[in-house]
Amino acid sequence: MVIKNVNLEIVCGITSKIPDTAYNEVAFAGKSNVGKSSLINALMNRKALARTSAQPGKTQTINFYNINDAMYLVDLPGYGYAKASEEVKAKWGKMIENYLHTSKRLKAVFLLIDIRHDPSANDRMMYEWMVYQGFAPIIIATKLDKIKRSQIQKNVKAIREGLGVQPGTMIIPFSAETKQGREEIWELIDSLVLP
Ligand code: GDP
Repeated sequence: MVIKNVNLEIVCGITSKIPDTAYNEVAFAGKSNVGKSSLINALMNRKALARTSAQPGKTQTINFYNINDAMYLVDLPGYGYAKASEEVKAKWGKMIENYLHTSKRLKAVFLLIDIRHDPSANDRMMYEWMVYQGFAPIIIATKLDKIKRSQIQKNVKAIREGLGVQPGTMIIPFSAETKQGREEIWELIDSLVLP
């Protein structure tokens, strides 16, 4: 996708209805601080359109970025922020579940996992929800620049095993610093959303 224009078009709060949009959607989920805003900004060639975690776990909205009036990148609320209240944690869960269940235009979901760490219990739960809703999540292993090249395969394997992914699941390493992985992710998104 060549980015011509991007626009944060819909912000969906906890009480809002999931919108019926005019274009196909792909969505991004991940634990707070995993690098989700950085990935979305890198995909859109913007420095700071997607929020970054100055206040981790604060934003409880689903944000729809219109790309070229052709599709939406959908930013789901970051989960698992340790200091959030139980009430807030329950809310993000319901919002994400409701979106996965309700959206008619959602073509693919991406689950972000920090390449340095084994998946958490929340990550596994999110992966299982996605599978339960009929999706085959694509994993993006973030912050690739933070590990040595020689560690990549081992860490990708640990993510594969930690999540218990289905056979054939793609795991794409990505760095927002070097933009490594960006083209591969866009090629995949294009193949998933374009008619
Ligand atoms: P979010 O909470 O998932 O939206 O995470 P952010 O995109 O705000 O990133 C959290 C922190 O990790 C910020 O300090 C980012 O600068 C940093 N970060 C995100 N992606 C990368 C990356 O690919 N490489 C490095 N070195 N840092 C990253």
